[in-house]
Amino acid sequence: MSVDEALAAMLSGARAVAEVEELATLVANGRVLARAQRSTMNVPPMDNSAMDGYAVRLADVKAAGTRLRIAQRIAAGSVGQPLEPGTAARIFTGAPVPAGADAVVMQEYCSQEKDLVSMKKIPEPGEWIRLAGSDIQAGSEILAAGIRLRPQDIGLAASVGISTLPVCRKARIGLFFTGDELVMPGEALAPGRIYNSNRFTLRGLAQVYGCEVRDYGIVPDRLDATREALRRAAAENDVIVTSGGVSVGEEDHVRPAVEAEGSLLMWKIAMKPGRPLAFGRVGNAAFIGLPGNPVSSFVTFLVFVRPFLLKTQGVADPAPRVLEARADFDWPRPDPRREFLRVKWNSAGGLDLYPTQDSAVLASTAWADGLADNPPEHAIRKGDMVRFLPFSELYG
Ligand code: AMP
Ligand code: MG
Repeated sequence: MSVDEALAAMLSGARAVAEVEELATLVANGRVLARAQRSTMNVPPMDNSAMDGYAVRLADVKAAGTRLRIAQRIAAGSVGQPLEPGTAARIFTGAPVPAGADAVVMQEYCSQEKDLVSMKKIPEPGEWIRLAGSDIQAGSEILAAGIRLRPQDIGLAASVGISTLPVCRKARIGLFFTGDELVMPGEALAPGRIYNSNRFTLRGLAQVYGCEVRDYGIVPDRLDATREALRRAAAENDVIVTSGGVSVGEEDHVRPAVEAEGSLLMWKIAMKPGRPLAFGRVGNAAFIGLPGNPVSSFVTFLVFVRPFLLKTQGVADPAPRVLEARADFDWPRPDPRREFLRVKWNSAGGLDLYPTQDSAVLASTAWADGLADNPPEHAIRKGDMVRFLPFSELYG
């Protein structure tokens, strides 16, 4: 099964959480906006000065060297009087332009003596005036539904006076990690044991996407224990994600456990790393079983779980944007499967390749800046352009 087929099948099974919370705009950063937002006001709300200078009537400044009496002073936050013909108003950035003025002369082009100002140039009509509504017009849409709010988005909402925002409830994700070989850092590493690194990687990823994470820790390689963990996780979460135990070995109990507690599709995905992937349902929760290999589980999380979680949380377009970047390496023996190679930007603006692409080598992911998405059987020669998925984009 191809990555795209599996992803499409999974995403068609993703249900967006229905609950919407009205949250203070101040604390809505990172959340998914449930409904589009419109501005009820013009921005800027009034014509205002873009510079420190002098507001004038164009009709009064017909020649360089014109002198006008300074009849008023308008600072930001205060409102002046209508500008009398033959006078200028000393004005500061952001201050409302007085009625009758049709240009602001920058102070660098003026010289002031007592209450007189002389202009060294003739201003253009409208010069240095920001018109009301030139940035945002009352009634226009400022934020679309289904975006993950970034700092500048909540700033924009605040700039038009929106004090609360409707956001989708966070998805609840339950994680557990199968394997009798697993121990936690801080515990003694008995012979044959390994540290449960997936717990850190996958939990961190779930947090990146703003989920409410429930972490059930290590589950032993036994059918009853796996079934019990599934039941509990299904009762408390929208999505269950597990690592390990999805191969068809005797010690792999995830598949029979999900089949006993719910329904399951087992996929052999034509990708490297990451072959076995399980997708199903247990009770009301979606189930995604990732392979145990640390790089495989990391990459399959990014490729499958990431869009699934985003869609579950109401994100309208969960597909990552893909960049084109230059490969500064050769990849002469491609795999028949689609490969996700660990690569890193170099100072020449190209991509370097981590020397071993083995799916057990987690160091490759920590070294890398992203994944080169290489089609099946596709050899890469130095200088070729490749599809590049930077982690910065995948984490966005
Ligand atoms: P499995 O998919 O259970 O057959 O595991 C495949 C490989 O990944 C084995 O070498 C496991 O020891 C390793 N592995 C499984 N789970 C974890 C984990 N949570 N952290 C690190 N390595 C793991
Ligand atoms: Mg295992």
